[in-house]
Amino acid sequence: CSVHDYSMRGTPNHCSVYQVFENVAKKYDVMNDSMTLGIHRVWKDILMHKMNPCPGTLLLDVAGGTGDIAFRFINYVRSVRQRQLQTKLRHHQNLSWQEIFESYQNDKFNNSLGDSQVVVCDINREMLKVGKQKAQHLGYSEGLSWVLGNAEELPFDDDKFDVYTIAFGIRNVTRIDLALQEAYRVLKPGGRFLCLEFSHVSNPLVSRLYDLYSFQVIPVLGEVIAGDWRSYQYLVESIRQFPPQEELKAMIEDAGFFRVDYENLNFGIVAIHSGFKL
Ligand code: SAM
Repeated sequence: CSVHDYSMRGTPNHCSVYQVFENVAKKYDVMNDSMTLGIHRVWKDILMHKMNPCPGTLLLDVAGGTGDIAFRFINYVRSVRQRQLQTKLRHHQNLSWQEIFESYQNDKFNNSLGDSQVVVCDINREMLKVGKQKAQHLGYSEGLSWVLGNAEELPFDDDKFDVYTIAFGIRNVTRIDLALQEAYRVLKPGGRFLCLEFSHVSNPLVSRLYDLYSFQVIPVLGEVIAGDWRSYQYLVESIRQFPPQEELKAMIEDAGFFRVDYENLNFGIVAIHSGFKL
């Protein structure tokens, strides 16, 4: 079971993908920032704005790794709750100053998530371990849980979640069709599927520059920062082999989702696919 297995076969398998993320787990966040020049943060923020979760949302973040999407979700829901509280208090003319002060203290400074919850599910123990340490360090605990599990065989009941996200994860899955079927199964009717993933650039000039950067720079960065050329070469190859936007859209529709659409970001370097279980 080695990273080399992947490049030899050209298709991911659990064993080699597991090894890749075990190798990169500790340096994953710093590599993410250097490889994308920090732009992955903007892409993840855009995903969150697209989701626009309301308080009470139950989110499943599959291939959630070190928790980036989960932490953004928590921040987003907290800020929505704070805005709702401010609006409510501004409209209640009869409340005493004390009542206003208390409800503000209770809600705002508890940083409450209300009844929203996020479950991070990932196949890799090391990635989850780093994520949990990060959560502890950043003070996230309420409404957040971590589950070891495979996207192709999710350890959850049917019709459970309001939203399913998978960010930079689906291209690592061996059977994308199975992962999509599982996403459909665990979502409630009316639930939303959102996938953020590297995709294919149509502009020839941007495509050329992007290829140069990916093949020449990223493995070097991997070697310099994480001492691991092969894992980062795998990441680049897995991006190239991943189905283009329209093909992925068709696969999501085949899994049963409706109103499937996608938005290209930065000329299609990444795309956000969205669909609904209706
Ligand atoms: N979503 C996180 C983010 O955006 O920063 C992490 C993305 S990381 C590139 C890909 C993650 O997919 C890894 O944590 C890896 O362990 C996970 N993964 C790969 N195959 C998986 C599978 N079959 N089921 C669940 N997670 C998987």
